Amino acid sequence: MPKINNELKKAVAGAGVTMIQQGLTVGTWGNVSLRDPESGLIYISPSGLDYEDIREEDIVVLNEELEIVDGCLRPSIEKRLHVGVYRARPDVNAIIHDHPLHSSVLGVNRMELPAISEDFAQIVGDKIICADYALPGTPELAENAIKALGERNAVLLPNHGTLCVGKDLKAVLRVAHVVEKAAHIYILALTIGTPHVLAAEQIQAMQYFARHLYGQVVCAE
Ligand SMILES: [Zn+2]
Repeated sequence: MPKINNELKKAVAGAGVTMIQQGLTVGTWGNVSLRDPESGLIYISPSGLDYEDIREEDIVVLNEELEIVDGCLRPSIEKRLHVGVYRARPDVNAIIHDHPLHSSVLGVNRMELPAISEDFAQIVGDKIICADYALPGTPELAENAIKALGERNAVLLPNHGTLCVGKDLKAVLRVAHVVEKAAHIYILALTIGTPHVLAAEQIQAMQYFARHLYGQVVCAE
């Protein structure tokens, strides 16, 4: 029996409240999961509960075969999407599926969100694209989203919301926040003119800077 990590349960429950507080979703929509890099188990929010009411013990633990390893509640209906992304992306250990306002507008219009800001280019990718439509909770939704996500850190789910991924919870919350901010900026920019999109070499330079040069280096004594 693999060890259950209660800290990860607590983190998933807390992330749901953060999503609501940051306006990234409303009601019970959306879902959050974390993968334990040690055991490979996936900790996911339960289906249909208000985020403020979700307690640590309500978090459901799944294995990669979608079997419940721990927990009494039904997992999120998008469990196939979460597990499928973890299978496809070994670099990802945290996933947020949210229903944010501005990103959803782009999804309704089946538009892409190009890299129009430094933060987006550094942590999300050169752009994010819109997956083909499928009904919520279906294997087709998971398949379409994983294909459209590719190696980027977010994807638009048409007439639905977004999916964001990261190496850990802090990273994925940042991606979700930056994607929604960029979508808002892009829509505002489209209303008053023609947005300038960053060039591929500028995006690559920013990604290199973010990965290798930004932040502090701890000196060896
Ligand atoms: Zn949803």
